[in-house]
Amino acid sequence: MEDQHHRQITYLRLSIIDRCNLRCFYCTPVQELVKLQHADILRYEELLRLAQVAVAVGIRKIRVTGGEPLIRLGVESFLAALGAIPGLEEICLTSNGVLLADKAAALWEAGVRRLNISLDSLQPERFARITGRDQLARVLDGLRLATTQGFEPIKINCVVLRGINDDEVVDFARLSLDYPWHIRFLEFMPIGHPRRRWQEYYLPTAEIQARLTTLGSLQRLPTVANGGPAVRYRFAGAPGEIGFISPVSRHFCEACNRLRLTADGRLRPCLFQDDEVAIKGPLRAGASDATLRDLFRQAICLKPSRHHLDHSLTSPCRRTMARIGG
Ligand code: SAM
Repeated sequence: MEDQHHRQITYLRLSIIDRCNLRCFYCTPVQELVKLQHADILRYEELLRLAQVAVAVGIRKIRVTGGEPLIRLGVESFLAALGAIPGLEEICLTSNGVLLADKAAALWEAGVRRLNISLDSLQPERFARITGRDQLARVLDGLRLATTQGFEPIKINCVVLRGINDDEVVDFARLSLDYPWHIRFLEFMPIGHPRRRWQEYYLPTAEIQARLTTLGSLQRLPTVANGGPAVRYRFAGAPGEIGFISPVSRHFCEACNRLRLTADGRLRPCLFQDDEVAIKGPLRAGASDATLRDLFRQAICLKPSRHHLDHSLTSPCRRTMARIGG
């Protein structure tokens, strides 16, 4: 379906849980340790029904996210059922990778082939400081195992935070020389925390990219249709790629094709706006597929032409990333 700004909305990010097994200081603030009640979270059969409705309004790709999706019991069967929905062309998973080594074979069996793994430090102590958990070794084991298993592509998303992990960008980029991984550097976004804090940590892509010149020159890769917001590069001869995602310094709203469904059943048209369409209530009250389709269309119509992140504004939304689903 096309939105009011002539963009085809074909991509749904489905958050299946608000809980996480990490406590990244910039993503899950302490006040959010009070979690949603079990009954507030959409059940798998509800998620599958909404996914079917989404496909009926034109969604072709679903990314399952959280919280941490791999901590939800039965996620493998859910993913297999999701993958069986006729008309859905692609499912992918976003995870922090802590449980990847345990679940890689089951995920493969469930039909998942594409993985996005979030990783902000390659140093064990720093990883523990950022995430509140000493789990780097497990994440790295998971990445190696998933590579052997055949997942492709494996994208590693690193949020670059000034003064926290920005001295590691070259180490991250170097991974693309040894592994077929797509190393993607994300700008820190002003979501759900005080503006001053965001300004302290924010590092624009241009600065990140400049630091990589010590490794060689980056060759730009062609953009592909619906290929996502990353501007992609490769070091000569490298098996992996480098990507830059710059929601703040170079927004990509004109190509935005996505909609989000939060774990508590709200359709969120734009990451940076709290306008949401509640769909869980009607779903549980017995709404027909036609009514649910209308709610999806309503959410798509609410998509703004672009976000207006600007250094002088206050944080654009109340929800944090942990509560939205990334
Ligand atoms: N647990 C899963 C994971 O770690 O990928 C999925 C949920 S997590 C909220 C999704 C992504 O959002 C993570 O890569 C995290 O680093 C990123 N994130 C959280 N807050 C962010 C912010 N303010 N700016 C940029 N990325 C952020």
